[in-house]
Amino acid sequence: MKGEVVLITGGSRGIGAAAARRFAEDGCRVVINYCRSREQAEALARELGGWAVQADVSDPVQVQGMIDNVLDKFCQLDILVCNAGVAQQKLFGDLTDADWRGIFGVNVDGVFHAIRAALPHFIHRKQGRIVTVSSMWGQVGGSCEVAYSASKAAVIGLTKALAKELGPSGITVNCVAPGVIDTDMNCNLDEQALQALREETPLGDIGTPEDVAACIHFLASPAARFITGQVLAPNGGLVV
Ligand code: NAP
Repeated sequence: MKGEVVLITGGSRGIGAAAARRFAEDGCRVVINYCRSREQAEALARELGGWAVQADVSDPVQVQGMIDNVLDKFCQLDILVCNAGVAQQKLFGDLTDADWRGIFGVNVDGVFHAIRAALPHFIHRKQGRIVTVSSMWGQVGGSCEVAYSASKAAVIGLTKALAKELGPSGITVNCVAPGVIDTDMNCNLDEQALQALREETPLGDIGTPEDVAACIHFLASPAARFITGQVLAPNGGLVV
């Protein structure tokens, strides 16, 4: 893995930032994509000797520009982690067109844009590792999170279908579907709600960004060379 170039979408905070640290530990060159958190992304890039690059993954032109810049700078891309995501809790009946499009624009279109832009390079080299980030709600559905759950189920479907299509090109496509992880995404949960989730979870805890980063790193590593189209679920046993 040393020297490999890894692009992590949504690398400025939470799970993406932990993944950037995990890859950097191995001597990878990390590209940290961000949308709004410029300061955090640039501070992380300085810490890891990586590169921070701004792009809104829901915008295909910005994503293509980002991938072109990465290839201009490093002349290679080895690993793409499609991690950027947004969540929203709302009753189904209250969802607006803008809510739905906003969630799908980032969580589904964003994955499509990033993979489509990186793919010609991967196919040309006949190698590449793609790791998508879904959610346990994409596996089982979450009440008051219909748009989010549907978008994360789409990520699993995309991962499985694309793994079949790209296997003959030497490219793996795998997915990580985390359970409840301690990041800004869950800052709306108070201590009582978090405690209830811990009690409901067989392993008795909520996860850390590092728990998920370890799974992302594994799926991108040589140890996973014969694994493609799979969903790895760091969720403490909450969904089995
Ligand atoms: P987070 O702390 O809220 O971080 C979200 C990241 O996504 C940030 O780096 C953010 O960048 C980036 N992002 C959002 N919109 C973007 C856009 N349009 N373009 C580019 N980047 C964008 O969330 P997290 O918990 O680390 O979540 C990471 C992934 O894990 C998401 O896909 C999420 O759905 C999934 N997940 C999380 C949990 C959980 O419990 N936390 C559970 C299951 C799955 P900026 O700050 O720079 O805008």
